Amino acid sequence: MLRIYDTRARQVEEIEADRAVRMYTCGPTVYRHAHVGNLRTYVLSDLIRRVLERRRVRVVACRNITDVGHLVEDPSGDGEGTDEDKVVAQALAEGRSPRELARHYEDAFVADTAALNLRPPEHAPRASETVDLMIELIARLVERGHAYTAPDGSVFFDVQSFPSYGEISGNRLDALRPAHRIEAVDPRKRFHADWALWKPGDGELTWDTPWGRGFPGWHVECSAMSLRFLGSRFDLHLGGIDLRFPHHEDERAQSNAATGHEVVRHWVHGEHLLFDGRKMAKSTGNVVLLSDVVAAGLDPLAVRLAFLEHRYRQQLNLTWDTLRAADRTVRRWRARVAEWSESPSAPMAAAYAERVESAFDDDLDTPAALRILRELERDETVAPGAKFETFLHLDQVLALDLSSEIGKPKVLPPGAAELLAARERARESGDWAASDRLRDELAEMGVRVSDTPEGQIWA
Ligand code: AMP
Ligand code: ZN
Repeated sequence: MLRIYDTRARQVEEIEADRAVRMYTCGPTVYRHAHVGNLRTYVLSDLIRRVLERRRVRVVACRNITDVGHLVEDPSGDGEGTDEDKVVAQALAEGRSPRELARHYEDAFVADTAALNLRPPEHAPRASETVDLMIELIARLVERGHAYTAPDGSVFFDVQSFPSYGEISGNRLDALRPAHRIEAVDPRKRFHADWALWKPGDGELTWDTPWGRGFPGWHVECSAMSLRFLGSRFDLHLGGIDLRFPHHEDERAQSNAATGHEVVRHWVHGEHLLFDGRKMAKSTGNVVLLSDVVAAGLDPLAVRLAFLEHRYRQQLNLTWDTLRAADRTVRRWRARVAEWSESPSAPMAAAYAERVESAFDDDLDTPAALRILRELERDETVAPGAKFETFLHLDQVLALDLSSEIGKPKVLPPGAAELLAARERARESGDWAASDRLRDELAEMGVRVSDTPEGQIWA
């Protein structure tokens, strides 16, 4: 069974799967396109799901859409929000309504996830359509003495009423410094680390409540949606590493305070993606979208493979070179699978499949899984028909569309025609070293060249 690193327990733990596994992933804030860094986190959820499903475990997934309440970060970088909603601010900048803008980027996000073969979650609630759940949850927190109202219509979570705050990230209350100098602490708060569950406001994307008109805070949205769609105890809660604090600490405090028990069994975090050695973030101008990858002539699933080449708990530094290499591998594997499909059928190479599946179970050791697959690809003692069965079987988790070339007339991958022509010229001029090098390069791309008395042919 799958064992995975639990951030709160600080150790690898086995997922109990005697019944359906319920999994919540903090969804995108739909004020811009998701970049490939964001997508790494969602591929992690999909991978967990597929590994569990291979073990015949039913998975119920919820991934929300944040279309209100996520505030623009304070440029001081202290984790506090400003009072500007990301969706509303961007809508103003693009000259359209917040709802229109949010739907546009939600559609783009769903298209990206489909291109990466992410299975759609069972539940994909929009925050703006579940505000009644948030109001209910806030009322319960006030009633239970975990939240208080301020004269301006805000409601704050009283973090001192939740002594185990900080268990996920290690940011315990006594160690947390006030965000600003003492005299600047928000006078509406009882304690500097309290956060807003409800904020006063009017205009589009605001609602009436017993405390006045306004909108929910981002943290309370995820608590309300996860409790509603997955129940008061669920198995996995996922997000990128930056969500550990304060977002997930605050979610945990709200959900546990409302129910009186530990709601989430395991907290799982994916490490960040860097591009060309730099953090991928809009603020640094270092953003690569899936559409940029496609525009560069690469298969979107090359991105998925590039993610799998690294452990989810390690930072991954992506470059255009790694993406191109991943693209060549995906195309080569598809070509091989199509080739092997022509061979007599044979049972799966069970020992290889088991090794790969154990690597998946071992805290998602996908780099090891891919090394074993490459070993199988090269192993001449395994019949092509068996390789075919094994690759297809494992593609249920890899999800690289490895069967997509079966039965199709073979077409040369981009760049191969030029290499073939160069090889022909090399042979004409007797440059055998260059000819051999080009043959290897073509093999890398899935094009096999052989020499006949009539000249070179490829398959
Ligand atoms: P957002 O849409 O900004 O709320 O972020 C969506 C998800 O992407 C969250 O789980 C973040 O933790 C995650 N994320 C943000 N930046 C990166 C990055 N560079 N690499 C990996 N995940 C990221
Ligand atoms: Zn969340």
